[in-house]
Amino acid sequence: MALIVHKYGGTSMGSTERIRSVAQRVAKWVHAGHQMVVVPSAMSGETNRLLGLAKELMPNATTPEAMRELDAIAATGEQVSVGLLALALQAQGVSAVSYGGWQVPLETDSAFTKARITRIDDRRVRADLAAGRVVIITGFQGIDAEGNVTTLGRGGSDTSAVAVAAALKAAECLIYTDVDGVYTTDPRIVPEARRLSTISFEEMLEMASLGSKVLQIRSVEFAGKYRVPTRVLSSFTPHDIPIDEEAVSGTLITFEEDEKMEQAVVAGIAFNRDEAKISVIGVPDRPGIAYALLGPVAEANIDVDVIIQNVSHDGRTDFSFTVHRNDYARTMELLKAKILPAVGAADVRGDARICKVSIVGIGMKSHVGVAARMFQTLSSEGINIQMITTSEIKTSVVLDEKYMELAVRALHKAFGLEEPKAAG
Ligand code: ADP
Ligand code: ASP
Ligand code: MG
Repeated sequence: MALIVHKYGGTSMGSTERIRSVAQRVAKWVHAGHQMVVVPSAMSGETNRLLGLAKELMPNATTPEAMRELDAIAATGEQVSVGLLALALQAQGVSAVSYGGWQVPLETDSAFTKARITRIDDRRVRADLAAGRVVIITGFQGIDAEGNVTTLGRGGSDTSAVAVAAALKAAECLIYTDVDGVYTTDPRIVPEARRLSTISFEEMLEMASLGSKVLQIRSVEFAGKYRVPTRVLSSFTPHDIPIDEEAVSGTLITFEEDEKMEQAVVAGIAFNRDEAKISVIGVPDRPGIAYALLGPVAEANIDVDVIIQNVSHDGRTDFSFTVHRNDYARTMELLKAKILPAVGAADVRGDARICKVSIVGIGMKSHVGVAARMFQTLSSEGINIQMITTSEIKTSVVLDEKYMELAVRALHKAFGLEEPKAAG
């Protein structure tokens, strides 16, 4: 008997029929003798619907008091789904109880719409488990020190599940979704993408942070920090498949660099359209200029990602960087109103039609020429690279967004990701 956490995403919880199937799957695990905690998302489309209603009344809800209400609204999606799942289990004769994050309580800081989990009180959950109940906890949300409901950011149910698994020292956290694991890239963009049976924690962290929305990045951080055995698998297999088969399906995140593991130079390709590029033109090229431009941006709590400074001509240079698209308008305003006059730059230009495409793999640590192959592949497709950034295990390029799918497909092919990898 083990304590297991299951997480079911929006599509997996998308209708009462799907919820019944989730309940049947969970019941199978209960009947096999396991203690079960289940963390569901809202029914698919529900969080978007709720935030859409909010937007009709306030298109730009950016003040703390408005963001508090956004969280109160968005959190209701999961509150419905936990109750429905508890009923579906009870209807099958399985004792189950549902809790909102605030009832556990799952405590967070007060950063509305992107709160961080600070502590999980496991007493209530443990008492229910000891009494033989399945415990169902809302994904995506918690409560801050002042008693406000908070949410963890889009896709945050993954993080709730892994954090709950860490707090309860669960034997495993199974993330059930609408694909049967983590693929070399999003199978919706490249149908030839291949499922990885394992992926190293470091690679999964990069894939998630660079845009693979299959797992929210903070869930991967929790998995790493607390060494939670975490597996991504499908909720669309027949609910009565043998448990032994189900338990080894999907993709396992691994923490050891194992010789026998799939070792490719590039494990996967991530991409996103979440950023916008800003170029400051004609900046005086003198010491301290990067700080003069980006210091006030950081003070406004805006994260800067890729940065590039051009060679200077006649004592002036161009300076470009990317920010999240949600922060684009705010950053442009800040630059125009305050920063440009202060540094004496000539102009600022913005481009929100960019994408970032990244190759990720721990094998890149020990192989040279990987980035060059990436640049060559893009060049032979006639794709212009606007910015480049690298780390030990990834290379990212910023491109015109119209080339995103072409770039991902070409790179997937160039790095042989469709081919089965040789063992050893
Ligand atoms: P859930 O609602 O279950 O949380 P998500 O939509 O958040 O599901 O995540 C699953 C989706 O992630 C898949 O349908 C797939 O399109 C997308 N995805 C992006 N990159 C990958 C990848 N590398 N491997 C698998 N799925 C990916
Ligand atoms: N329901 C939330 C969202 O749509 C959280 C999640 O599904 O993980 O973002
Ligand atoms: Mg998700």
